[in-house]
Order: sequence, then C-alpha cells, then structure tokens
Amino acid sequence: MAGTVDAARCRACARLTYPTHYYCPACGGREFEPVPIEGEGTLLTWTRVHALPLDYEQRYITLGIVELDMGIRATGRLEMGDPAIGRRERA
Ligand SMILES: [Zn+2]
Repeated sequence: MAGTVDAARCRACARLTYPTHYYCPACGGREFEPVPIEGEGTLLTWTRVHALPLDYEQRYITLGIVELDMGIRATGRLEMGDPAIGRRERA
C-alpha cells in the first residue's frame, strides 16, 4: 500500500480507529490526533476487482485487508502479484 495514511488516536482513551470516525467508538471522545499507519501486519483476506472502468490501464486491481500490529485493520490496494492470506506485510 503506497502513500501516507493516518489513523486517529483518541485523546481520551488512546483507542486507534481507522477509517476515522467523528466519535471514538470506545469512549465517545471527539478529540483525536493523527497517527501514521505503519509497521507490519498480517493479510486477512484479499480479492481482485476485475470490473474496472474501460479506461483503466490495468486489467484488475487487488484489494486486501491487513490486520496491523498497531491494532487496526486497514483496507487498501495491494501492490503485489500473488497475495497469500496470513502472510506478513508492511503497511
Ligand atoms: Zn476514546
């Protein structure tokens, strides 16, 4: 997954959320600080999307959900040719 994406850490209870919410799902807090998503995680599942717009350069894209060691699940595009569930990935 390329680029920098931020998760949000609740200032009240330190719960990490991603995608970000307006309210902390754990304590209802409304103040967050951005935390860059980084580190390693385990690939939970993945899929290929073949139904792309006609002007798309690639025949398909690969999407996956990675459970990151920092405690969140991130959905994103996988930049790999042959994903394997359970494999360790870098965010
Ligand atoms: Zn909270």
